Amino acid sequence: MAQLPIVEFAWMRDPKGYRLTEGKQRRIVRNGPFGTEVACPPLTGEEFRVFANTVTDEGGALDFVTQYGPLTQAGRDPEHGDYVNVVIHQALMMRQVFDAIAAQNGGPGIFVPSIDAHVTAFWDPAVKNLRWLFTPNSLLDALWLQVGQTVTRGVQLRICEHCGDWFEAGAGTGRRAGARFCCHQHQITHNSLKRSTG
Ligand SMILES: [Zn+2]
Repeated sequence: MAQLPIVEFAWMRDPKGYRLTEGKQRRIVRNGPFGTEVACPPLTGEEFRVFANTVTDEGGALDFVTQYGPLTQAGRDPEHGDYVNVVIHQALMMRQVFDAIAAQNGGPGIFVPSIDAHVTAFWDPAVKNLRWLFTPNSLLDALWLQVGQTVTRGVQLRICEHCGDWFEAGAGTGRRAGARFCCHQHQITHNSLKRSTG
């Protein structure tokens, strides 16, 4: 079994929240001044799916940044911010990558942006081997690295037939390989709806 790289990532968000600028080239900008960010909780590993599932419009992008912090280093700058169309486009690209993986058909359309991370290695006595330590440069880099980790773990990415969200299935995910629903509740709701309309 391949050893996954360890991802070490600390990120900040503005406790005063974020807003959308007006006009062309709309950006998601911090409300607070420099030096007032607070630490985000450590990533759980599922943020990339939240990103892909919820960032489909400007409201979804603003909600995501408010909860998880800005996507790029520029987003931490109160004078700059994240371009909202770039954020939405990244989420769209991620969904297209999931589509390609689920169809087992990469083709020429699949595109993963290059990930910017600081990489070091250390000797791990527990596995008697080198372990790689990745420190992503931004939240966006961390999200794409999560996609890479998921693919490396051999986890399936599937669309729930009830809610349409992407979920993980297969060993170690709590959902069996080939599962059609993201959770037991959606399976029950879907089947009872089918009975009542069929
Ligand atoms: Zn569902």
